[in-house]
Formats: sequence, structure tokens, C-alpha cells
Amino acid sequence: MSGCLCLPGYKKKVDPPISILLQKPTQPPPPPPNKNMDPVERLQSGFKQFKSEVYDKKPELFEPLKEGQAPTYMVFACSDSRCCPSVTLGLKPGEAFTVRNIAAMVPPYDKTKYTGIGSAIEYAVCALKVKVLTVIGHSRCGGIKALLSMQDGAADTFHFVEDWVRIGFLAKKKVVTEYPHTPFDDQCTILEKEAVNVSLYNLLTYPWVKEGVAAGTLKLVGGHYDFVKGAMAVERLKTGFEQFKADVYDKKPELFEPLKAHQSPKYMVFACSDSRVCPSVTLGLEPGEAFAVRNIASMVPPYDKTKYAGVGSAIEYAVCALKVEVIVVIGHSRCGGIKALLSLKDGEADKFHFVEDWVRIGAPAKTKVLADHASASFEDQCSILEKEAVNVSLENLKSYPFVKEGLEKGTLKLVGGHYDFVSGKFETWEP
Ligand SMILES: [Zn+2]
Ligand SMILES: [Zn+2]
Repeated sequence: MSGCLCLPGYKKKVDPPISILLQKPTQPPPPPPNKNMDPVERLQSGFKQFKSEVYDKKPELFEPLKEGQAPTYMVFACSDSRCCPSVTLGLKPGEAFTVRNIAAMVPPYDKTKYTGIGSAIEYAVCALKVKVLTVIGHSRCGGIKALLSMQDGAADTFHFVEDWVRIGFLAKKKVVTEYPHTPFDDQCTILEKEAVNVSLYNLLTYPWVKEGVAAGTLKLVGGHYDFVKGAMAVERLKTGFEQFKADVYDKKPELFEPLKAHQSPKYMVFACSDSRVCPSVTLGLEPGEAFAVRNIASMVPPYDKTKYAGVGSAIEYAVCALKVEVIVVIGHSRCGGIKALLSLKDGEADKFHFVEDWVRIGAPAKTKVLADHASASFEDQCSILEKEAVNVSLENLKSYPFVKEGLEKGTLKLVGGHYDFVSGKFETWEP
């Protein structure tokens, strides 16, 4: 890759004006969200709580983020509802560009198969210039169990899951060879960490990652979160975890004890990798509540077994194995991915390895916005496109047979959402 990498949507941090720091919220806090609420109402109530307790009280944190993000970290974490790194590592809005998929896998560089993750790595390293790439495995990972359970030569039983977790095949081979007599559960624990090593190794197949590591501007860090023992193996982010452990994990055994055995999240949430929009933070989603996928512009591609195993495996696992009740796709204000989509010129060669190809998933939304709002300014078109792209993703979800079936039976519901961090609003709608 060569040339200018300044994608839109990125600006350096600036100090907020003093007047903003002195503003005090006057509204009393709303009642806390309750898990028995209607699922959409519960999201709104979680957001209201975040707005009054965090967003309105910390303008010094949120004001500069309205202009742009400059995260230090890129974090890869499992979609598992118990493992949100914003929660377990105390990462603040703006600190970590985040990708979440089944088993926190990073596949090797492949322009045809892995544009989802490739575009996120490319954007984080080349445009945002993150300093640390962190891959975090975890205890009792369903994806790792699926990988270790696969028999050589047996036909795949899923559309996507096996194909996706096979990214960790070399780690499995190592564990099975080195620990042939170890019980299955212990092999899983070792594999959880060995799979992280494979992902770290795969990261080096991306030319700009290799370059950054060689130049010393980029560091690769592996981590492992054990929610059974309440332990985190990752040096660089240790203090955030210690605070979470003391303030949350140790204080709420009633929340964490049942989650040690299994997860049964009600939601599957798609949110952008953008460091400012973690749904655990903005919607107050608790550990165990939401199975989460995070990628550039929270795009859901249509069903495609060769191109989109990452997203496909997550949807399949959430719907067929975890039986989530609601799938929520959340767009957001000032989304770099949406700006990139709207900036694409017909017939022009791609400047990036992955980014353009990935955001083009939202092309039908772009066509609609350009036709319906031809005279609107670029900024306004972007705002409309942020929501229209969510509608395309909701429509694409219906191309997965297990989603279509759930919708027909009434066991599954689709919800669109938009988080505006400039005006502090959260909107939801049902298609
Ligand atoms: Zn997992
Ligand atoms: Zn975004």
C-alpha cells in the first residue's frame, strides 16, 4: 500500500473548552435497566442510564471524542457475552478499536476470504495508527471447544462455524501432539492460549503489521481471560483488569457464578469497531447479556460461505446454539467506514487492500441515499447513510436460513439502532 492513508473521520485529540468542563447535569438519574423489560425498552433504558451517569458527567472524556478517535489499542476478543474487553479491562471510550468474532481468531492475510477482519486491521494500523494489537482468548470458549471436537475427515455440520474455527488448526495440532493424554477440558484450556499464538503469528502476514513491528511502532500482545478463576494474563492491561476484578467481579458473585458454567445471552449485537461505541458501555449491557460482533461500520454481509465465514459463524452460533432472541445492528455518528463508503468513486481503483471491499457491503444503502438526498451536504448524507446501512444489514440478515426461520416462527426479532455521540442520542427501530 502506498500514498495517503488519512481516511476521513480521524483527527487528533483536542482539549475541550473550559465551559464544557463546568457543565453539570441537572436531571435525576433514571431507574436502572431491568432484564425483564421488553428487550428494546431495556436497550433504551440502558442508554439513558449511560447518558445521565457517564456521558453527561464526563464531558472532558466525550467532547474530544466527538471530533475523532485516536485509540492506543486494537483489541481482538471473542463474541462471547461474558468477555467484553471494555468491561473486563476497564477500557474507556476512545481507548480501543475492537474486533469481536468467534474465538477472537485472526485469520492470515487473504483478500478474498477475510475482508471483514482485514479491513479492521488495515484501518486500525494505517489510518488510526494504534500502538498495540492485543488478542485475548478466554476460558470455556465455545469456538475453541468446537475446534478441538472436530474429527479429521468428518463432514461439517454447520454452514460456517467449522470453517471459521479451523483458522486455529495449527494450534490444535500442537496441543493434540504435545498433550495426547490430557483430559479434553484441560486440552481446551491450553488450546485457548495456543490459538492466540496462532492469531499473533497470522497478524504478521499483514504487510503493514509486519512493517510496524519491524520498525518498533507496533507491539503484539497475547492475553487470556479466565472467568472461572477470575484471572487475566496480559501484562500491559493488567491494572484495568485488577480494577474490574475488585470493583465488579468479586462484588457480584450472583452475576458471575452462573456465567462460569455457560452463557445464554438474550441479544446478539453488531456494533462498529470504533473505539467510541462499545455497546457494553453505551447500553449498559452486563456480562452474559449480549453476544457481540464488532467490525468496520457494523456491517452484516449477505450469506456467503466462501467470503464471510467470520460473521456467518457468529450469527450461526448465536442463533442456532445460543438461541438469542433479538439481533440488534447499531450504526453510529461520524463513522469512518460510512464516510469511506460514501467517498468511493465509481470506477476508481481501490487504495486499500480490504477497506473498500468491506464497506461496499453497504452499497445499496449508498445508492438509495444518493438518489433520495442528492442535494444534501456530504455530512448530512453520511448521517442518513449510517442508518440506511443498518437497514441493509437487517435485510442481509434475512439471507441466513436460520435467521429467516426464527423470524417466521416468531422466536427471533431484528432491531436497528443508531448511537449519536455528538448529540448524545440513541435511536431504535424495527424493520
Ligand atoms: Zn469464546
Ligand atoms: Zn464506525
